[in-house]
Amino acid sequence: MQDYDLDTLAVRAGTARSQFNEHSEALYLTSSFVFESAAQAAARFSGEEEGNVYSRFTNPTVTAMQERLAAMEGGDACVATSSGMSAIMATVMALMSAGDHVVASRGLFGATQQLFVNILSRFGITTDFVPATDLAAYEAAIRPETKLIFVETPSNPLTELVDITALSEIARRRGVRLAVDNCFCTPALQKPLALGADLVIHSATKYLDGQGRIIGGAVVGNKPDLDEVFRFLRTAGPSLSPFNAWVILKGLETLRIRMEAQSATALELARWLESHERVERVFYPGLASHPQHALAMRQQKSGGAIVSFEVRGAREAAWRVVDNCRLLSITANLGDTKTTITHPASTTHGRIGAEARQAAGIHEGLLRVAVGLESFADLKADLARGLALI
Ligand SMILES: *Cc1c(COP(=O)(O)O)cnc(C)c1O
Repeated sequence: MQDYDLDTLAVRAGTARSQFNEHSEALYLTSSFVFESAAQAAARFSGEEEGNVYSRFTNPTVTAMQERLAAMEGGDACVATSSGMSAIMATVMALMSAGDHVVASRGLFGATQQLFVNILSRFGITTDFVPATDLAAYEAAIRPETKLIFVETPSNPLTELVDITALSEIARRRGVRLAVDNCFCTPALQKPLALGADLVIHSATKYLDGQGRIIGGAVVGNKPDLDEVFRFLRTAGPSLSPFNAWVILKGLETLRIRMEAQSATALELARWLESHERVERVFYPGLASHPQHALAMRQQKSGGAIVSFEVRGAREAAWRVVDNCRLLSITANLGDTKTTITHPASTTHGRIGAEARQAAGIHEGLLRVAVGLESFADLKADLARGLALI
């Protein structure tokens, strides 16, 4: 399947057919599988014979989804998980031990930071955070115990980019794995494995489903690493439900055209916001004014569908824009066909404290819009209403 284009893989890679030969992928809602004999049961359990045993381990619908996403990311293997967070957890638990060390980019998804800082630290896995764009800082933070570099690009909500090619060269030279959370770009816009990363992490909750229906996650990469992740998953159990896998299978089929349409509208919106007198600054990698625009155009197919901007004024002004939206949904989720708006300083980044927020560059006037499939004209009118009242 690897020779086909992304568009073909998105609809053809990974099949799950029953004896009825259905054209759409079959949904196998079953917790366990029946054996023909005691001998077959024994052979399946020992691994001597390939086949399904129990849906915590494998399920044909989940397997089909894993094959499709692996093909689209250009990886050898994929393990689907119950959420994006459990994908990160499973990766760390499978590949690291007490005493090991992580170098992570600052500005990771909030729960990811908390996982590293508050939970993994209790089990002897420590993390150092470095500025996302500072390649020398990653290298300087690597110690003999460092096993993993973990980054997100572009970052949330300030859309800072990590140069994956350059960082993967550092990682390879120092014998450390590089994992990239590819949630914001998806394989439709960015292929971290082709750029040299070892592992790709997904929250399938976002663009892979893309329609706000399910929670899911995945890890993609090389077979030896993914075998370890699978061994962890089948024992510890953060497995993806077959139903959610089926929803993701269908979501993947339209991923590229959704990402392209949403990114095109995001670019229009970013350009309009940049010219608006009540807007102080726009953060969008597709704009020529973005400090890493050249890298974005090299590393990504487009600027993506997330636009952040700072209004002139503080919290009151930002909230006025949010509260005057009739179309945009006030929610912190992203990656939906419905456009969402959030005020990071009082929601996703509310708990980190004013000082840390200031240091991270998350100001009170900042808003994040995750552009969906509505028309540019309607989204613009919705935001213009509040901006006019600042
Ligand atoms: C949402 C998100 C996650 C976590 O995914 P869940 O499916 O909510 O567990 C991880 N990374 C990024 C970048 C996200 O946006």
